[in-house]
Amino acid sequence: MRILQIIAITLISTSFLFGQTLSKKEKQILKLVDKNLDESIQFLEQVVNINSGTNNIAGVQAVGKIFQDQYNKIGFDTRWIDMPVQMKRGGHLFAEHKGTKGKRLLLIGHLDTVFEPDSPFQKWSMVDSIVSGPGANDMKGGDVIMLYALKALVHAGAIDKAQIIVALHGDEENSGDPDEISRRDIIAAAKRSDYALAFETATGFEYGTVARRGASEWTLEVTGKRAHSSGVFSKNIGAGAIYETSRILQEFYEKLPEQYLTFNPGVIVGGSAASLENGEGTASGKTNVVAEIAKVHGDLRFISEEQKEKARKQMAEIVAHHNLPQTSATIRFKDGIPSMPPTEGNYKLLAILSKVSVDMGLGEVKPWDPGQRGAGDISYVAPYVSGVDGLGCTGSGAHSLHETMDLKTFKNLTRRAALFIYRLTMEK
Ligand SMILES: [Zn+2]
Repeated sequence: MRILQIIAITLISTSFLFGQTLSKKEKQILKLVDKNLDESIQFLEQVVNINSGTNNIAGVQAVGKIFQDQYNKIGFDTRWIDMPVQMKRGGHLFAEHKGTKGKRLLLIGHLDTVFEPDSPFQKWSMVDSIVSGPGANDMKGGDVIMLYALKALVHAGAIDKAQIIVALHGDEENSGDPDEISRRDIIAAAKRSDYALAFETATGFEYGTVARRGASEWTLEVTGKRAHSSGVFSKNIGAGAIYETSRILQEFYEKLPEQYLTFNPGVIVGGSAASLENGEGTASGKTNVVAEIAKVHGDLRFISEEQKEKARKQMAEIVAHHNLPQTSATIRFKDGIPSMPPTEGNYKLLAILSKVSVDMGLGEVKPWDPGQRGAGDISYVAPYVSGVDGLGCTGSGAHSLHETMDLKTFKNLTRRAALFIYRLTMEK
C-alpha cells in the first residue's frame, strides 16, 4: 500500500513536471513518436537483416533505397550520390527538408557496417530488451532514431518551415578514397547549415559527444651501415638502424605526451633487409650483421589540427636530430580523419539537449570525455558548424561479433531526439 502511494505521488509529480516544461506541441510530438514505436523497431529489424558491409555495394544501396523511400514519404527531397566506380563504394543518401525558419540542421548517419557478407554475424536476434545484430548499434539504430524522430515532427506539422538535411553515408567505416570526393557533399551541406547532429552510438543515456579525436598515420624509415657486428659502436660502423629506431621511439614516448594526444607504433620490421606495405612486413638479417634498415608504421590521434601539427613537428625534430653514429632517419605523415575539437559552440548545443532531457524528466546530459571518443564523420564538418554526436542508441560491443543495442532506452532516445530537433528549428 505504502509503495503504491509513493508510486502514485511520483506519477503525479512527474506529470506535473511535464505540464510545466513541455509545450502542447511538444507533447503532441512525443505521442506521435510513441505511436510509431513498434513500427520503428520492426523497421530496424528489417534494415539490420540486410548486409551492408562497406564493401558490399549492392547491400549498402539496398539499405539506402529503403531509407530513401521513407524520406520520400515524409516529403523530403532525396538524392542518391554515386561515387566514381574506381572508389569501390556504394554512395550516399542525402534527404532534404526545405525551409527558411529557425536554425538549419545537418543530421548525420551511415548505412554501412563493418560486417561484410563473409562475417559469421548476419542476423537480428532479441533476448528481452537486448537486440543483437550487425550494425544494430553502429549505427542503424541511430539512423532509425533519426528517421522516426523526423516522422513524428512532420506528422505533427512541427517542422513545416525548417531546413533539415539528412546525410547517410555508405562508407563511414572505411571512407572512399579520396576524401575530397567521398566527403565533398557533407561539407557542402555543412556550409549551409548551423548545427550538425550525429546519431552514432551513444556513450550512455546521460552523455553526449562534444569532441572526437582525429586519426592519422606515420611511417618511419631508418638506415644504418651494414657491417660485421664485431665493429658495432665503432666510429666507422656506428649503432645500426635498429638502435637508432629504438632511440627515436623512446624519445617519442618520453617527449611527446600531452592530454588527448596518442601515438602508437603498430608494426616494426628491421634487419639487413626489411619491407613494410599495408600492414604486412618482412625482415631478414643475421645476429652478426649490423642492421641496415628498419621501418615502423604507426598512428597519431589528436584533438585539434594544432595539436596534430605540433606533434608532427616534434616527431620530425626527434627523427632528424641527434642521430646515433652512422645512422639517418626520415618520417612521413599521412592525414586520415580530422578531429572534432571541443568548442564552446558544441558545449552550448549540448546544453540545449540537456535542457530538453531535464524538461522531459530524463535528467541531465553531460559531455563525454573528449579524449575517449575515436574519429567519426561529424569531424569532417566540425570546421563549419557546431555539433553534437552520440545521439544514437545505447548498446555495447560495436564492431564485434557481440554487438548489441538496448531497446529499453530506444524509445526515450527517439523522443529526446525529436524534441531536440524541434527546439533547434524554433531557435532564431
Ligand atoms: Zn558508426
